[in-house]
Amino acid sequence: MRKPVAMITGASRGIGRGIAIELAKHGYDIVGTATRLTPEDREKGLFEVKDRVESYAVNFVPVAGDISDPDARKRVLHEAFSAFGRIDVLVNNAGVGLIKRLDILETTEESYDRVMNINLKGPFFLSQAVANQMIRQVKQGTEYAPSIIFITSISSHTASPSRAEYCVSKAGLSMTAQNLAVRLAEFGINVYDIRPGIISTDMTAAVTEKYDKLIEEGLLLQKRWGTPEDVGKAVAAIAEGYFEYATGAVIEVGGGFGVLRL
Ligand code: NDP
Repeated sequence: MRKPVAMITGASRGIGRGIAIELAKHGYDIVGTATRLTPEDREKGLFEVKDRVESYAVNFVPVAGDISDPDARKRVLHEAFSAFGRIDVLVNNAGVGLIKRLDILETTEESYDRVMNINLKGPFFLSQAVANQMIRQVKQGTEYAPSIIFITSISSHTASPSRAEYCVSKAGLSMTAQNLAVRLAEFGINVYDIRPGIISTDMTAAVTEKYDKLIEEGLLLQKRWGTPEDVGKAVAAIAEGYFEYATGAVIEVGGGFGVLRL
């Protein structure tokens, strides 16, 4: 039997890297994307991930392209399909935080457009293209029921007025997941929304002290930072079919952040 194939956007570091490693442990061939390729540097970026992932006896194909650029998206998809001829699991993980946090009363259109194009428009249309390919796969007959996973955020439903445009992009991405879940159900293609909480990566490096303090003060039920591995395990459980009867599910991987307390 052939190996299942996963495409993971933003696989060069952080959460995407953690997802790639967990799926590799479960025997997935992987297409991993990022903004750039640095084949001369195997210490970091997609080629570091490739070496790590391939130690689990699977294949990792690195592809570079800006997800917010329609032409780059087309090329990335072409390279992804050329690599293995199909995609069984799409993980929409690539995303950015803000260059500068500004109060919602000061947010600039430039920052809004940047974050919406990368975090929302890019994955929206990438998923549209992959979903159409998955439908063709289903019609041709496939041994793996395809699935699409969105890495959104607790910011999909938690207001942070000093980075409102990021929250809006993630809320939009969560709604993209819901709409695709509805549309793709008839084809047996499941769609999921994973909402990470506070995860230790480059994205959160600049706010380490702030979150250390909040966690210490009881923000989370599980008193520690999340790791890329925590998110990777949730993705692997979905990809492996352990949430088969749960399309459209929202899964928070946030150490109990979302539990309301009195
Ligand atoms: P990192 O900054 O560590 O990694 C971001 C990844 O996305 C990199 O692989 C990067 O590629 C890629 N990327 C960024 N911009 C683009 C682009 N324009 N086109 C293609 N790829 C791009 O972030 P995290 O691992 O922390 O975050 C991953 C996802 O998880 C994001 O969507 C984020 O919003 C979400 N998230 C993160 C949380 C956290 O606490 N860290 C919490 C909740 C959600 P390159 O290396 O080339 O720049």
